Amino acid sequence: MSHIVTEFGIQDALQQLGIKALNDGTSTGSENFGSGDIIASYSPVDGALIGKVKTTTKADYGKVMVQATDAFKTWRTTPAPQRGEIVRQFGEKLRELKEPLGKLVSYEMGKSYQEGLGEVQEMIDICDFAVGLSRQLHGLTMHSERPGHRMYEQYHPLGVVGIISAFNFPVAVWAWNTALAWICGDVCIWKPSEKVPLCGIACQHIAAQVFKANNLPEGISCLINGDYKVGEFMTQDPRVPLISATGSVRMGKIVAQVVASRLGKSLLELGGNNAIIVTPDADIKMTIIGAVFGAVGTAGQRCTSTRRLIIHESIYDTVKEALVRAYNQLKIGNPLDENNHVGPLIDTDAVALYENALRKVQEEGGTLLVEGGVLKGEGYESGCYVKPAIAEARNNFKIVQHETFAPVLYLLKYSGDVTNAIALQNGVDQGLSSAIMTNNLREAETFLSCVGSDCGIANVNIGTSGAEIGGAFGGEKETGGGRESGSDAWKIYMRRQTNTINYTTELPLAQGIKFDL
Ligand code: NAD
Repeated sequence: MSHIVTEFGIQDALQQLGIKALNDGTSTGSENFGSGDIIASYSPVDGALIGKVKTTTKADYGKVMVQATDAFKTWRTTPAPQRGEIVRQFGEKLRELKEPLGKLVSYEMGKSYQEGLGEVQEMIDICDFAVGLSRQLHGLTMHSERPGHRMYEQYHPLGVVGIISAFNFPVAVWAWNTALAWICGDVCIWKPSEKVPLCGIACQHIAAQVFKANNLPEGISCLINGDYKVGEFMTQDPRVPLISATGSVRMGKIVAQVVASRLGKSLLELGGNNAIIVTPDADIKMTIIGAVFGAVGTAGQRCTSTRRLIIHESIYDTVKEALVRAYNQLKIGNPLDENNHVGPLIDTDAVALYENALRKVQEEGGTLLVEGGVLKGEGYESGCYVKPAIAEARNNFKIVQHETFAPVLYLLKYSGDVTNAIALQNGVDQGLSSAIMTNNLREAETFLSCVGSDCGIANVNIGTSGAEIGGAFGGEKETGGGRESGSDAWKIYMRRQTNTINYTTELPLAQGIKFDL
C-alpha cells in the first residue's frame, strides 16, 4: 500500500463513504451497479489501484430504467417543497462527509485537496440554492384577449434526466444537475466518467441513504457505470427526454446529433478555450495571481482554465517576466499535500496530449518561455506529473485554437485598443469563459457589451475559472449553449405548459375568428 494512502487517511475516507475495500479489487461497494466488464480505477497521485467497478450492461440498464420510471410516479406527485426538504437533507449529509468525499475526489482525480473540498462545497451550495427554488418554480400569468378567460403557464416535471459527466469535476457537475432536477420532480440516471467511477459510487451511497431514511425509492437517483457505450444507452433512449452531457466538444457533437435525431432535448457543457485580456490599465499583481491560478489550478484541467493571455504590447514584457518568476516558484507533487500548488494530470494519455501541444506550438513557430516537461523519480511514479509551461504563440496556430486539457498557457500580444484584443479573444471556436483585467471603465464596458466577449461567462478583474453557483453556468459556440446551476437554469429540467381557462357561457375564438353553428 502506498504511503500516501496511509499518511493521508484514504482508507478511512473510503470506509466513511461506504466503499468497502481498497486494492483487493473484489469489493468496492459497486456490486449493485452492474454485472458487466470490470473497470479499474488507478489514482494519478501515486499510480495505485483504488478499486474495481463493474460496468452496466444493456440488460442492467433495462432494470435501472424500470426503477427510475417507477420512482418517477412517486416523486412527480411529491410537492416541490417536500422534494426540497429531501435535497436539504442530502446537503446536510454532504456537510457531514465533506472531508472524506473531498479526499476521494483529490485522490481519484488528482486535483488538490482544497479543490476537492471546494467541489463538495459547490454541491452543498447548489443544494441550498435548490431548497429555496423548490418554493419558487414560478410560471407567468398573462391577460387573455378574450373576455372571461384566464391564461397562465406552469412547469411540470420532465421524467428521467440522463446525466453524463466528465472526469475533471467528478462530483459537482452531477450535483448541479441532480439537485435542480430533483426539486423539479425529475428522477436522474447518472453515468460518471469511467476515469473516476468511485466518486460516483460514493455519491450514490450518500443519496441512497437519504432516500431510504425518507421511505422514498432509490430509483430517484440511479447510477450506471462504464464508457461511452453505456452513455449511448441513454442518448439513444426515447424514455430519456433530457440528456445533460458535460465533456469534450468531440463528445458533444456526437451526443447532440443522437439526441436530436429522436427529438430529445440536450444540455451541453463542452470544452473551452478561455482567455484573459490584459490591458495597459490592468493591476499587474492581480493579473498574475488570476492568470497563474487559472492556468495551473487543477493542472489546467478545468473547462474554465486560462489557456490564452492576450496582453497589450506596452506591458507585455512586464507581464511575461512576472509570470515566468511566478511559474518558477510553483511546487508540483502530491495534491493531498497542501504545500503543493500543482498535482498530476488524470492519466498518461493526458500527458501525451500535453507533450504533443508543446511540440506542436514550436513546430508552428512558437517559443517556449517556461519549458515544461514530464517529471520523473520519487513522488512522480504514476507518470502523470508535468511542469506547467508557457509559450509565446499566435492566435491562428492550430494548437492554440484547440483545447489541450493540460497546463499550457499561450501568450498573445495585441496592439491598438481593446477591440483588437476582443477580436483575438473571440477568434476561437469555443465560447465558455473570458476575462479582462483593467481599471479602465471604457475598456471593461466595451468587453461586456454586445460587441465584446462572445462567451457565456465574461468577468472583469477576476480570472476565467472559479464560477459561483448562483449564476447560470455554460458557454456559447462549440461549448454547446447549455446553462446549468443558478439563475433560471432550472427551466430546462421541466416541461412548460400554457393553460387557458374559459369561465363564461360563450366560446369566443382567438383572433376574433367567427365559427357559428
Ligand atoms: P470526454 O468527452 O472524453 O468524456 C465525457 C463523458 O462523456 C464521459 O462520461 C464519457 O464516457 C462520455 N462519452 C464520451 N463519448 C460519448 C458518446 N458518444 N455518447 C455518450 N457518452 C459519451 O471528456 P473528459 O475527458 O472526461 O472531460 C474533459 C472535457 O470536458 C474537456 O473538454 C472540458 O473542457 C470539458 N468540460 C466541460 C465543462 C463545462 O461545464 N463546459 C465542465 C467540465 C469539463
